[in-house]
Amino acid sequence: LTLPLCNHLPDDVKVSFEFFPPKTDKMAESLWAAVKRLEPLDPAFVSVTYGAGGSTRERTHETVTRIARETALKPAAHLTCVDATREEVDTVARQYWDAGIRHIVALRGDAPDSDGVYRPTPGGYAFAADLVAGLKKVADFEVSVAAYPEPHPEASSAEADLDNLKRKVDAGATRAITQFFFDVDVFNRFRDRAAAAGITVPIVPGILPVSNFTTVTKFAGMCGASIPQWMAETFDGLDDDAETRKMVAAMVAAQQCRGLAAAGADQFHFYTLNRADLTYAICHVLGVRPPMPVPSPAMAEA
Ligand code: FAD
Repeated sequence: LTLPLCNHLPDDVKVSFEFFPPKTDKMAESLWAAVKRLEPLDPAFVSVTYGAGGSTRERTHETVTRIARETALKPAAHLTCVDATREEVDTVARQYWDAGIRHIVALRGDAPDSDGVYRPTPGGYAFAADLVAGLKKVADFEVSVAAYPEPHPEASSAEADLDNLKRKVDAGATRAITQFFFDVDVFNRFRDRAAAAGITVPIVPGILPVSNFTTVTKFAGMCGASIPQWMAETFDGLDDDAETRKMVAAMVAAQQCRGLAAAGADQFHFYTLNRADLTYAICHVLGVRPPMPVPSPAMAEA
């Protein structure tokens, strides 16, 4: 029996984790349990999302600064252009800088209106590239941006979307994190096209461990990510079987990561949904593990 792709893991895999700010005490408990479980894996950074229209501004700030205060992790704050003037966005950024936060994930954000059409806020940053340039004027932040292996739904073409990514990098971004995707070839083609377009910053695959296939299918439809047929078939029949679904989810994501690693990827960004278990298991498979535990006295004697 040979296990495919086992020998293709890079020596030094880097991971990062995304969390969202909790709304309730119970959600806060899950978040902090996840943060604590994942902390020993020594991620390159952890990021905290920003709710649509700045709806989580305070909670994002609280979560990011608490991570900075209470853990050894390096937090990054997401920031969007939606529903805020440049001055307001700059003020939020300055507050982060003053609190010692040096890394921003700069995004346009989505339309807060019910018609779903994005309209720049008067006096605000219109697109993520403008935000990146603005942030670099506030302070010398490390800036990450979003990238789309399957083009962003509003892009006029795949080329225009890649030009947009190039503008974000030219404005000062030093890392692109991708929207989630499931087909390894889709990512590899995108990475090659980005390289051919002169984009030299790391393009980090965004990995979404699928715990609820039905929800992910709905979400994927909204953000233009395709669901391969094999994946639908793999999860078929498990709607009411959360336990098996979780094991299958770990296997599917581990296989995806190994496929990416075999094609040269050595950095992975996990959309944790504030849960540690799947992400922890996949990291283990990728060779990302906590330092060796100190042997117990019984083991040392043996
Ligand atoms: P942009 O890079 O500005 O691009 C948006 C669209 O506009 C693209 O189609 C682009 O091609 C087009 N475009 C860009 N410039 C121009 C121009 N000058 N003229 C015409 N068209 C143009 N959302 C949140 O609300 N909060 C978050 O915390 C959050 N985190 C995310 C993290 C990651 C890693 C990713 C991948 C997405 C995240 N999102 C978040 C979602 C993101 O806000 C949406 O995908 C949004 O629709 C686009 O954001 P962007 O930064 O990619 O926008």
